[in-house]
Amino acid sequence: MNSPATNSSSFSEPTSQQRVALVTGGAVGLGAAISKRLARDGFTVLVADIDDKAADATAAEIIAAQGQASSLHMDVGSAESIAEAFAEITERYGRCDVLVNNAGISNITAFLDVDLDRWNRTMQINVTGTLLCSQHAARLMRTRSWGRIINISSISGIRAGAGRTSYGTSKAAAIGLTKQMAIELAQYGITANSVAPGPVDTPMTRELHSDKTRESYVRGIPAKRYATPEEIAGAVAYFTTDDAAYVNGHVLPVDGGFVAAGLLEI
Ligand code: NAD
Repeated sequence: MNSPATNSSSFSEPTSQQRVALVTGGAVGLGAAISKRLARDGFTVLVADIDDKAADATAAEIIAAQGQASSLHMDVGSAESIAEAFAEITERYGRCDVLVNNAGISNITAFLDVDLDRWNRTMQINVTGTLLCSQHAARLMRTRSWGRIINISSISGIRAGAGRTSYGTSKAAAIGLTKQMAIELAQYGITANSVAPGPVDTPMTRELHSDKTRESYVRGIPAKRYATPEEIAGAVAYFTTDDAAYVNGHVLPVDGGFVAAGLLEI
């Protein structure tokens, strides 16, 4: 756990009464919005990220808003780092009730230019990281017969898009993994669902989307705008509620109508 910038004294005792939610890539963007939302909903939130400084800052913000949070170093691209982080969670909290597999990387590369190292890295983080975190979390969830796994996929895992060969394929795999987990983990009281965002205004899209890409997306989205991170966080929060107890193995696009849209101009 990275304690320096966070109020670690709030966590000197295991919070056995409060459900623990782990958000990977929780430091900025969607992950930060999800972390803040789940803290508001009463979870003790573990903000897991490779960027320790940003994770500390997000956990500190949650604490300043009277929520419970702590930052946690985790590189979802490394099996060792994931195992170390879960060993720490087990020792410190003895539970992980909600896992949001949000950490992900993206790139836009033409199919014929896809390079193997980049492809492998994308799969390692977006797919294998989700698999490994979910295995660790599900073992803890199983002991309490309750758990919620929410995988952040993408509309790129549902619809093809130019240059999305590795990213889109990794997100389609994350959707497949969600369904697989859903049917095998239901017997332990665990559900697994996926939220598939359309374009969201985050550091990722600010870096990756040119003005042309942005304009083209906005033209194709019936809502005519990008989502806010908070709108995606709201959908994630739904899957943690009792209202969603019987919702399992589903993919919810949160996309302003983008997936539903075919020909927009008539
Ligand atoms: P972002 O790049 O703005 O933030 C990603 C966060 O993940 C950062 O804090 C980063 O440090 C962390 N991270 C990156 N690699 C990591 C690793 N190996 N281990 C742990 N943490 C790591 O991204 P975002 O836009 O907030 O996207 C979050 C998720 O939502 C991703 O899975 C992304 O694919 C998905 N998504 C985003 C959009 C969008 O438009 N922004 C759309 C659909 C899906």
